[in-house]
Amino acid sequence: MGIWRREIIIALILFLIICVISLFTKLFFPLTFALIIIFLCHHLYQLNRFEKWLRTGGQGDYPKTKGVWEEIYYHVYRIKKHNKRRKKKLSKMVDRFRESTEALPDAAVVLSAGDEIEWANKAAREVLGLLPSDKGQRIQNLIRFPEFIYYLKSKQYDEPVILPSPLNNRMLLAVRIINYGDGLRLLLAQDVTQLKQMERMRKDFVANVSHELRTPLTVLKGYLETLEDMDNGESLLLTSSLRNMQGQTERMQHLVDDLLLLAHLETKNKKHEIIDIRKLLNQICHENEATLEIGRIELILDSDAQMIGEENELRSAFTNLLGNSLKYSSEDSPVQIRWHETETALCLDVIDKGEGISPADIARVTERFYRVETKRDKKISGTGLGLAIVKHVLMRHDAQLIIHSELGKGSCFQCAFPLKRLAK
Ligand code: ADP
Repeated sequence: MGIWRREIIIALILFLIICVISLFTKLFFPLTFALIIIFLCHHLYQLNRFEKWLRTGGQGDYPKTKGVWEEIYYHVYRIKKHNKRRKKKLSKMVDRFRESTEALPDAAVVLSAGDEIEWANKAAREVLGLLPSDKGQRIQNLIRFPEFIYYLKSKQYDEPVILPSPLNNRMLLAVRIINYGDGLRLLLAQDVTQLKQMERMRKDFVANVSHELRTPLTVLKGYLETLEDMDNGESLLLTSSLRNMQGQTERMQHLVDDLLLLAHLETKNKKHEIIDIRKLLNQICHENEATLEIGRIELILDSDAQMIGEENELRSAFTNLLGNSLKYSSEDSPVQIRWHETETALCLDVIDKGEGISPADIARVTERFYRVETKRDKKISGTGLGLAIVKHVLMRHDAQLIIHSELGKGSCFQCAFPLKRLAK
């Protein structure tokens, strides 16, 4: 403010001098005009110098000047210096961030809203084969696996997708996309070759052991049957031992069969066939009714939708659910099976009025070998693998298992298939 007051006082003094001179010379207007012109020229000159200084980037110190122009130069100079310092700090931060992401063992790629590559780290260049010149290219032109393109388009990034590396098909990558900022996405790819190898070894081991156990078990069962036939009932101990051994061998056979089925589900390629669910459910109900459960099963077919999937897998899942409902409810209580459609899904409900499951157990019943411990009058046999099989089958059909249950009241197991599974 002080500098402006000084400028105004100088202008007023000059104007007063002109007024005094005009009293003697009567040259008021020409002198005032001349004063205005001098002011104008001075400021035009300063403006020109200022513009020149800015045009050359305002490098170094600003030109020597006085008054209000010195003040303007000083302020611009200060703002520039402050910005320069901020820029330096920011670029240091960016450098540090780049260095740390470059050092990451996992590949990281920043994608724009249009799927173009904005930036990639060293690991991305090594495992995904991206080049510095690929900046601006669309990622799907460089990683062309159909699973990846489907994953990118789906916008469902909760789970990673497993792909081979474009440079080495023996290397497996878990690729995951994370949304951030304004439409930007971060693609992360982690080498999971070893993990997958170990997983494969575990699956192969379980499958091989189960397979190898099958034959000795069948032989054992055959001998036990022969011995049972030969038993004349003279020794109670022998009779009960033979029955016990038969029961245990059967249990082991079920276990081996379930383990083999699970291993099969984990490794086998998916099949896509059109399944007549009404027919399938009718068959399953008839089979179960034939084995003791006459009159207990109520089949409600509210939809005639056919579905795309694998019939044998679904048969096994639905049979397991129905078998459980019959097993875990009293012998005279009904079990309902309902096939229907909602706005978002094709649903199969298996409803019973049995013993129900507590909320804590609901979260765990689909785990392998998990069996709820309850005090029952009669021991119910099982392997603890039935619901794990159901979950796996449903996963392979992009479906969900929804469990509603209340202790002592009953349960509803719902298989909800997405509408994309509907056979047109
Ligand atoms: P299991 O061979 O023991 O039946 P599952 O995996 O099929 O193995 O089921 C796991 C556990 O979930 C069972 O042990 C049982 O306690 C519980 N369960 C499953 N279905 C039902 C049901 N319909 N009602 C009550 N409990 C159930």
